[in-house]
Amino acid sequence: MELNKIPHELSYRNIKYPRIEFKTGKLLLVLPFGFDPEIVLKKHKKWILKKIEFIEGCLKDAENKDIVKRTEKEFREIIHSLAERISEELDEKLNKIYFKSMKTKWASCSAKRNLTVNQLMKFLPEHLLYYIIFHEIAHLKQKRHNERFWGIIEKKFDDYDVLERELFIYWFRVA
Ligand SMILES: [Zn+2]
Repeated sequence: MELNKIPHELSYRNIKYPRIEFKTGKLLLVLPFGFDPEIVLKKHKKWILKKIEFIEGCLKDAENKDIVKRTEKEFREIIHSLAERISEELDEKLNKIYFKSMKTKWASCSAKRNLTVNQLMKFLPEHLLYYIIFHEIAHLKQKRHNERFWGIIEKKFDDYDVLERELFIYWFRVA
Protein backbone atom coordinates (compact mmCIF):
# COMPACT_ATOMS: atom_id res chain seq x y z
CA MET A 1 0.00 0.00 0.00
CA GLU A 2 1.21 3.46 -0.88
CA LEU A 3 1.95 5.68 2.06
CA ASN A 4 -0.49 8.37 0.99
CA LYS A 5 -3.23 5.78 0.59
CA ILE A 6 -3.08 4.61 4.17
CA PRO A 7 -6.29 6.06 5.65
CA HIS A 8 -5.50 7.99 8.77
CA GLU A 9 -6.61 10.87 10.93
CA LEU A 10 -4.37 13.55 12.35
CA SER A 11 -4.46 15.20 15.72
CA TYR A 12 -2.00 17.92 16.63
CA ARG A 13 -1.33 18.37 20.32
CA ASN A 14 1.08 20.04 22.62
CA ILE A 15 3.36 16.98 22.96
CA LYS A 16 7.04 16.28 22.41
CA TYR A 17 7.00 13.04 20.44
CA PRO A 18 4.60 11.70 17.82
CA ARG A 19 2.60 8.59 18.62
CA ILE A 20 0.41 6.18 16.70
CA GLU A 21 -2.95 4.99 18.00
CA PHE A 22 -5.23 2.24 16.76
CA LYS A 23 -7.71 2.40 19.59
CA THR A 24 -10.94 1.80 17.73
CA GLY A 25 -9.54 0.32 14.55
CA LYS A 26 -8.80 3.62 12.86
CA LEU A 27 -5.25 4.81 12.47
CA LEU A 28 -4.70 8.06 14.33
CA LEU A 29 -1.43 9.97 14.26
CA VAL A 30 -1.00 12.19 17.27
CA LEU A 31 1.65 14.73 16.41
CA PRO A 32 3.45 17.68 17.93
CA PHE A 33 2.48 20.95 16.24
CA GLY A 34 4.14 21.36 12.85
CA PHE A 35 5.23 17.72 12.59
CA ASP A 36 5.16 16.12 9.13
CA PRO A 37 2.89 13.01 9.21
CA GLU A 38 4.82 11.48 6.26
CA ILE A 39 7.83 11.02 8.54
CA VAL A 40 5.84 8.91 10.98
CA LEU A 41 4.08 6.93 8.24
CA LYS A 42 7.39 6.20 6.54
CA LYS A 43 9.21 5.21 9.69
CA HIS A 44 6.52 2.84 10.95
CA LYS A 45 5.12 1.69 7.61
CA LYS A 46 5.71 -2.02 8.22
CA TRP A 47 4.07 -1.98 11.66
CA ILE A 48 1.15 0.13 10.42
CA LEU A 49 0.47 -2.15 7.45
CA LYS A 50 0.56 -5.20 9.72
CA LYS A 51 -1.99 -3.56 12.02
CA ILE A 52 -4.23 -2.62 9.11
CA GLU A 53 -4.13 -6.20 7.86
CA PHE A 54 -5.10 -7.42 11.34
CA ILE A 55 -7.99 -4.96 11.53
CA GLU A 56 -9.26 -5.84 8.04
CA GLY A 57 -9.31 -9.50 9.10
CA CYS A 58 -11.29 -8.59 12.23
CA LEU A 59 -13.76 -6.52 10.21
CA LYS A 60 -14.39 -9.46 7.93
CA ASP A 61 -14.91 -11.86 10.84
CA ALA A 62 -17.23 -9.34 12.49
CA GLU A 63 -19.84 -9.86 9.76
CA ASN A 64 -20.65 -13.38 10.96
CA LYS A 65 -20.34 -12.82 14.69
CA ASP A 66 -23.42 -13.64 16.74
CA ILE A 67 -24.21 -11.19 19.49
CA VAL A 68 -25.60 -12.36 22.81
CA LYS A 69 -29.11 -11.37 23.78
CA ARG A 70 -29.69 -10.76 27.48
CA THR A 71 -31.77 -8.33 29.47
CA GLU A 72 -30.29 -5.36 31.29
CA LYS A 73 -31.01 -7.13 34.58
CA GLU A 74 -29.28 -10.34 33.47
CA PHE A 75 -26.34 -8.33 32.23
CA ARG A 76 -25.86 -6.46 35.50
CA GLU A 77 -26.20 -9.64 37.53
CA ILE A 78 -23.54 -11.44 35.52
CA ILE A 79 -21.16 -8.48 35.81
CA HIS A 80 -21.66 -8.21 39.56
CA SER A 81 -21.15 -11.91 40.16
CA LEU A 82 -18.07 -12.09 37.90
CA ALA A 83 -16.57 -9.02 39.55
CA GLU A 84 -17.09 -10.52 42.98
CA ARG A 85 -15.54 -13.83 41.97
CA ILE A 86 -12.54 -12.27 40.25
CA SER A 87 -11.87 -9.74 42.95
CA GLU A 88 -11.63 -12.63 45.42
CA GLU A 89 -9.47 -14.61 43.04
CA LEU A 90 -7.01 -11.74 42.57
CA ASP A 91 -7.35 -10.60 46.17
CA GLU A 92 -8.12 -7.03 45.08
CA LYS A 93 -11.12 -5.34 46.62
CA LEU A 94 -13.49 -3.42 44.37
CA ASN A 95 -15.38 -0.36 45.44
CA LYS A 96 -18.23 0.37 43.05
CA ILE A 97 -19.34 -0.79 39.63
CA TYR A 98 -20.65 1.76 37.15
CA PHE A 99 -22.39 1.07 33.84
CA LYS A 100 -21.76 3.65 31.12
CA SER A 101 -21.72 4.14 27.38
CA MET A 102 -18.11 4.51 26.32
CA LYS A 103 -16.74 5.21 22.86
CA THR A 104 -13.22 3.83 23.02
CA LYS A 105 -13.01 0.99 25.55
CA TRP A 106 -14.85 -1.98 26.99
CA ALA A 107 -14.16 -1.13 30.60
CA SER A 108 -11.84 0.66 32.98
CA CYS A 109 -10.76 0.49 36.58
CA SER A 110 -9.80 3.57 38.56
CA ALA A 111 -7.24 4.01 41.31
CA LYS A 112 -10.24 4.42 43.63
CA ARG A 113 -11.09 0.80 42.77
CA ASN A 114 -14.21 1.66 40.83
CA LEU A 115 -14.93 -0.55 37.86
CA THR A 116 -16.66 1.10 34.91
CA VAL A 117 -18.31 -1.23 32.44
CA ASN A 118 -19.28 -0.25 28.91
CA GLN A 119 -22.98 -0.95 28.22
CA LEU A 120 -21.89 -2.56 24.94
CA MET A 121 -20.47 -5.46 26.96
CA LYS A 122 -24.08 -6.60 27.24
CA PHE A 123 -23.72 -8.24 23.82
CA LEU A 124 -20.58 -10.24 24.59
CA PRO A 125 -20.39 -13.95 25.43
CA GLU A 126 -19.63 -14.73 29.04
CA HIS A 127 -16.02 -15.88 28.51
CA LEU A 128 -15.20 -12.41 27.17
CA LEU A 129 -16.97 -10.68 30.06
CA TYR A 130 -14.82 -12.79 32.34
CA TYR A 131 -11.67 -11.84 30.48
CA ILE A 132 -12.42 -8.09 30.42
CA ILE A 133 -13.21 -7.93 34.12
CA PHE A 134 -10.18 -10.01 35.02
CA HIS A 135 -8.06 -7.67 32.89
CA GLU A 136 -9.45 -4.58 34.62
CA ILE A 137 -9.09 -5.91 38.16
CA ALA A 138 -5.55 -7.04 37.31
CA HIS A 139 -4.82 -3.36 36.67
CA LEU A 140 -5.16 -2.84 40.42
CA LYS A 141 -1.98 -4.91 40.72
CA GLN A 142 -0.24 -3.27 37.79
CA LYS A 143 -1.48 -0.05 36.23
CA ARG A 144 0.39 -0.14 32.94
CA HIS A 145 0.33 -2.66 30.10
CA ASN A 146 3.87 -3.77 30.78
CA GLU A 147 5.50 -7.18 30.93
CA ARG A 148 4.46 -7.73 34.54
CA PHE A 149 0.84 -6.98 33.67
CA TRP A 150 0.70 -9.36 30.71
CA GLY A 151 2.43 -11.95 32.91
CA ILE A 152 -0.51 -11.83 35.33
CA ILE A 153 -2.95 -12.15 32.42
CA GLU A 154 -1.04 -14.97 30.75
CA LYS A 155 -0.97 -17.04 33.92
CA LYS A 156 -4.75 -17.18 33.75
CA PHE A 157 -5.37 -16.95 30.00
CA ASP A 158 -2.59 -18.54 27.96
CA ASP A 159 -4.60 -17.67 24.83
CA TYR A 160 -5.18 -14.04 25.72
CA ASP A 161 -4.10 -12.82 22.27
CA VAL A 162 -6.97 -14.85 20.80
CA LEU A 163 -9.35 -13.22 23.28
CA GLU A 164 -8.00 -9.76 22.49
CA ARG A 165 -8.63 -10.41 18.81
CA GLU A 166 -12.15 -11.65 19.55
CA LEU A 167 -12.80 -8.43 21.44
CA PHE A 168 -11.68 -6.42 18.45
CA ILE A 169 -14.08 -8.37 16.23
CA TYR A 170 -16.96 -7.78 18.65
CA TRP A 171 -16.10 -4.10 18.84
CA PHE A 172 -16.64 -3.77 15.10
CA ARG A 173 -19.84 -5.78 15.41
CA VAL A 174 -21.52 -3.78 18.19
CA ALA A 175 -19.90 -0.32 18.41
ZN1 LIG B 1 -5.75 -2.68 30.21
